[in-house]
Amino acid sequence: MAAFEISVNGERRFVGEYVKAITLAADWVAHRQGERISVHVGAGGHGEVEVQYLGADLRPGDEISIRVLAEDEDRPEGLPETESCSFCRSDKRHIGSLVAGSQVAICDRCLVAFQAVVTRSAALPIGASIQELGYARCGFCQKAPPEVAGLLVRNDAALCPECLRACLDLYTTSDE
Ligand SMILES: [Zn+2]
Ligand SMILES: [Zn+2]
Repeated sequence: MAAFEISVNGERRFVGEYVKAITLAADWVAHRQGERISVHVGAGGHGEVEVQYLGADLRPGDEISIRVLAEDEDRPEGLPETESCSFCRSDKRHIGSLVAGSQVAICDRCLVAFQAVVTRSAALPIGASIQELGYARCGFCQKAPPEVAGLLVRNDAALCPECLRACLDLYTTSDE
């Protein structure tokens, strides 16, 4: 089966033979009073539940390119892992949806868990920590403390509160 390769500004984001549909969307997010530009990737194969991979961090001026790879074409190496959640390591078969950034991907369950930590001071998931200092960078916007406060880190993957909000926006919209 042919595979799709999707790049944003020359940086590879998704590769997969199970990608069935690629949608680019610009929509208005009322509660943020701002426009959101996102790439939605419908995935699934062999009778599995459809999974949507979503790029949440696109900006005006970004260049998105989509290439169809032949079946026998060498798959590029060193790709970010977008087949599973970088935070809980759940495989895409066990998760409802995944939001993918340039370095990391996060599943709906981790988003909900992190949201509870940020908004209701809920307990952190096992192995997770909040970093106010250090070398970790948000896998979505590449910002590091002190530029962003309180990076959520688990399994070497990091997410800042601002990108968490952007991801949750996508997740709740795609659920409607
Ligand atoms: Zn997860
Ligand atoms: Zn961020």
